[in-house]
Amino acid sequence: MSPFSNWSRLSSLWPLLLLLGSLPLFPARTLKNDPLTELASDIQNNTWHAFVKLLDAGKGSEVTGMSELKKYFQKFGYLSIPDQNITDFFDDNLESAVLSYQRNLGLTVTGKLDEETMKEIILPRCGMSDSAHDHSSSSLLHTTKNYAYFYGRPRWMKSSPMTLSYAFSPNAMIDYIDASEIRAVFQRAFSRWSFAIPVNFTETDDYYTADIKIGFYNGDHGDGEPFDGVLGVLAHAFSPENGRFHLDGAEIWAVDFDQERSKVAVDLESVVTHEIGHVLGLAHSSVKDAVMYPSLSPRTKKRDLKLDDVEGVQALYGSNPNFKYTSSLEHDTSSSNNIGIGKRTTSKWTIFFGMVTLMFMMI
Ligand SMILES: [Zn+2]
Ligand SMILES: [Zn+2]
Repeated sequence: MSPFSNWSRLSSLWPLLLLLGSLPLFPARTLKNDPLTELASDIQNNTWHAFVKLLDAGKGSEVTGMSELKKYFQKFGYLSIPDQNITDFFDDNLESAVLSYQRNLGLTVTGKLDEETMKEIILPRCGMSDSAHDHSSSSLLHTTKNYAYFYGRPRWMKSSPMTLSYAFSPNAMIDYIDASEIRAVFQRAFSRWSFAIPVNFTETDDYYTADIKIGFYNGDHGDGEPFDGVLGVLAHAFSPENGRFHLDGAEIWAVDFDQERSKVAVDLESVVTHEIGHVLGLAHSSVKDAVMYPSLSPRTKKRDLKLDDVEGVQALYGSNPNFKYTSSLEHDTSSSNNIGIGKRTTSKWTIFFGMVTLMFMMI
């Protein structure tokens, strides 16, 4: 019997698996800071947690929920098929979407829904598509250059020295973080980009005339890109010279993880720094530790621009005359940003397989 047929048999038992995960079957679950409790909770809170059951589903198979994965790939630019043709079959189209996703995000290219790929798919991420871009043409010579632009390489065209104004929505803000703290987060995030390019950012009270319009929105908010609740899509921002900058109001945003203890808290400053890259004209990068990489784990900070981000934005706007290389720009070849994710997710899979084994024992 193939591993997949076991999955198929078990698919109808998935709600029971989740239920088992929430029952105190393992005494250790009741302990504070127990990683099992933490991870079980993470699985259930993640917008894309249901994709976990598609792990190792092979080409030619049919699994309930595969159509949702196809919609995910469609949303992020890896599939282009009419909605009515989306089925639960793992077909050629899905395989090429998986291949392209793996290539684009720097994963091992297998065309399969393997563990590394599923780990990346269920991570919260930016809502902008990965496909609407124009890769740097020098990637053959410099393999670390993987920054990309939107089609046509749009950029702000104001005369130099350029100043872009930004404003917060008068009626779409969150109230559990002080406005002064939110303003400080944006100031720091904008200054990182100003350090690299001759562009200044200045806050204005006039939301309607500001170049960059910032707000927190829930669900459908009128731009055709509805937000999806906790985790999943975190934010999106439009390419130049649009200036719309939207954060998902359903996230538990954090400015300080010592104060915000939620397991699904998201670092506001990391996401804001990433979205400013879109506002300036950068699309998603394939470099895992670059700010412009599309995903970000909960409770993770990724605030410092990397060389890939800086080279990408400088190719659009030129260099700030005062710009200096610093050690924080260097790429982290050990991928420390992903170590935490790996540990957490590995334990998650351990739980998952533990639950499946338990189900086999019960059948
Ligand atoms: Zn993005
Ligand atoms: Zn929006």
